[in-house]
Parts: sequence; structure tokens; C-alpha cells
Amino acid sequence: RWVEVAELLETVATQARSVAPDGLTVEVSLPPEPCAILGVRTELESALGNLALNAVRYTPAPGRVVIGARSVKNAEGELFVRDTGIGIAPEHLPRLTERFYRVDRARSRDRGGTGLGLAIVNHVAQRHGARLLIESTLGQGSEFRLRFPATRWRWSEANRSEDDGIDPEE
Ligand code: ATP
Ligand code: MG
Repeated sequence: RWVEVAELLETVATQARSVAPDGLTVEVSLPPEPCAILGVRTELESALGNLALNAVRYTPAPGRVVIGARSVKNAEGELFVRDTGIGIAPEHLPRLTERFYRVDRARSRDRGGTGLGLAIVNHVAQRHGARLLIESTLGQGSEFRLRFPATRWRWSEANRSEDDGIDPEE
């Protein structure tokens, strides 16, 4: 199924705003053309929702979270969540998507969570042939990206209800 990116991003942004404290803005950044992802809507929403919830959770106010989409080279497409939060030291990045891995137990404990969010994001990415890319600077912020192959990313709404034979369940 083709999942409309604009609608997906708005849904996730609305959820993120409902839990964001005062002074933490949540913005949506859409590319000029409509685009869609071949995948499972509920899974994509859960993955992007986890990234957005992390951004809100690990960004003190005043701060800014941007949930967006962009085109990248070779007709690939990317969903991203960027924040101006606490950031992650480079040595933690390799283990970040492990189940129950949290950067700083003492620091993270009072922020809730169990350390499963990014494992779920990673799982959803794999099921969609996407890569999870992370860029972060300690004390400045982070950007998490889900990069989809060209075969699963489509510009324009032309194929909205069309089925091109690829089964996203497999
Ligand atoms: P859960 O998602 O299960 O509620 P969690 O948020 O702690 O708990 P993950 O989403 O897997 O677990 O994230 C793992 C760890 O990565 C977090 O505990 C946090 O230390 C770090 N982290 C994740 N996202 C960010 C972010 N946007 N900024 C800074 N640190 C982050
Ligand atoms: Mg999380």
C-alpha cells in the first residue's frame, strides 16, 4: 500500500505536540511535491512516532523538533526527525538500536521508557528495506533518518490506490 507521507507526518506531529511541554515546538517539513512510501501504514506510524517521542523526550525546552521528508540521491527518499536536544555521544551510536539499551540509566530513568523504541524503529526499517541513519552531537541535538530505496518511494500521488505487485508484508 502506498502511504501518503504528508498525512503520516501530520499524524505523528499531532501526537508529538500533545505530549510536548511548553516551549518545545514540533514542526513538519514537507518537500514541495507530494510523495508516498510503499509499506505498512501502522508500522511506519509506529516507527516515526517512536522517533518523534524520543525527540520530545530528550529535548529540553526551549527547543525545536522537526519531523520531515526529503529526497536524496538516486531517487531514494528519507523521513527524518531532528531535534535540538541533549544529543548522543558517538560511542553510544553503535549500540543504540539494541533492545533495552539506554545511554545513561540514571539520566534516562526519570524520563520513562524501557529502551525498546529504537529496536522497534530498526525492525520496521528492515521490514521496509530502509536504513536507519543517526547523526548526533552531544549537547546540540540529533537527527534520525529512515532512508527508503527508490523502489519504495514515489513522488506524486499518481499511484495512490494502485498496486504494483510488491507485497510490503514480505
Ligand atoms: P522507550 O522508547 O522504550 O520508551 P527509550 O526512549 O529509552 O525507551 P529508545 O527509544 O530505544 O529507548 O532509545 C534508546 C536511548 O537512546 C534512549 O534511552 C536515549 O538515551 C537515547 N536517545 C534516543 N533518542 C534520542 C534523542 N533524540 N536524543 C538524545 N538521546 C536519544
Ligand atoms: Mg524511545
